[in-house]
Amino acid sequence: MPATMPAADSNSLDAGRVTRIRRNLLRWYDAHQRDLPWRKKPQPYTTWISEIMLQQTQVATVLPYYRRFLKAFPTVQALAGAPIGDVLQHWAGLGYYSRARNLHRAAQVVCQAFDGRFPDSYEGLCGLPGIGDYTAGAIASICFGERQPAVDGNVLRVVARLTNCDEPINTPAGKALIRAATVEMLPHKRVGDFNQAVMELGARVCRPGSAADCDGCPVRNQCAALASNRVEALPVKNKKAAPRAQDWVVVALQHQDAILLRRRPTNGLWGGLWELPTAMVQVGRVDQVAAAFMRELCEGRLSSAPRAFGTVMHQLTHRRITFHGFHLRTRQRADLGGTAETLWVTLHDARAMGISTAMQKVLDLLETAAGGAK
Ligand code: SF4
Repeated sequence: MPATMPAADSNSLDAGRVTRIRRNLLRWYDAHQRDLPWRKKPQPYTTWISEIMLQQTQVATVLPYYRRFLKAFPTVQALAGAPIGDVLQHWAGLGYYSRARNLHRAAQVVCQAFDGRFPDSYEGLCGLPGIGDYTAGAIASICFGERQPAVDGNVLRVVARLTNCDEPINTPAGKALIRAATVEMLPHKRVGDFNQAVMELGARVCRPGSAADCDGCPVRNQCAALASNRVEALPVKNKKAAPRAQDWVVVALQHQDAILLRRRPTNGLWGGLWELPTAMVQVGRVDQVAAAFMRELCEGRLSSAPRAFGTVMHQLTHRRITFHGFHLRTRQRADLGGTAETLWVTLHDARAMGISTAMQKVLDLLETAAGGAK
């Protein structure tokens, strides 16, 4: 163990250790930070969009979405005035679509209640739809220099290791401990850079499990987990419940070269996005539900027998959905009845609509299946 390394039980953050953590992290950040578009001249609007997109999503995935989104909605006014369908279309593929709806609602609040200017404090930002502790802390520290932490998954891991925290980080008690320790570490100047430095360290150096690069870490001499040989054991997490398995029937109803899409209800999973009509199998077998659903969709208008075109699985945080695809042709275009908005489009145009990643997978399957609707 290097002479400067803290003792194995040194979990507390004394003033000297805090000073070294701040200094070493900021130096490292100055030398190694990635050149990311939202870091150039940070503004509340661009910081907000990037932070919402980055939640549970890698930087490399976010970059093209961020550029397209900012091109389509360059200001908060442009976002507030856009139809929600356009916003969802630019979000499609990023998942967690309630975030896009909240972005849209919050932009409208900023324009209507704050004359187009973001509240310039953590407290004020927390009052906007979809902005919680993390996002408010990030915007307030990066754009307004307010001394607030921004504790995301990377920060939870880094700080749990720096402080040898044994409390599970996916519990309220664990989160509160990490937040308090992060607040202690925050410098009085360059607080936004410090928050970004911790996040960046978590993403690139202090990676989960054995992927941590402690040899290249700027705070290795201040790290209690390294000193006590507990890097791989931290952070501690309580086991999550296994995702629920679900079966969904999905129907590709085709007339000539067009397929039918319908818009999902605004609330709930994939709210407001377009889909091939789906039905969750709650009671009975897949084939029974599929037969009943297809009868309901297009009774009397069929010109082909239904054909199963395969299955595709999509994993969400709390459920694992298996889509069972059925294709059938209809003699005429007709709406589905009910209140759902519907549209007949080519398969090519369907891909350009606001549809979920799960539905993109279903369309891939449909396209590659023998005799698929092209
Ligand atoms: S020394 Fe290792 S475990 Fe500690 S903060 Fe650095 S990378 Fe993470």
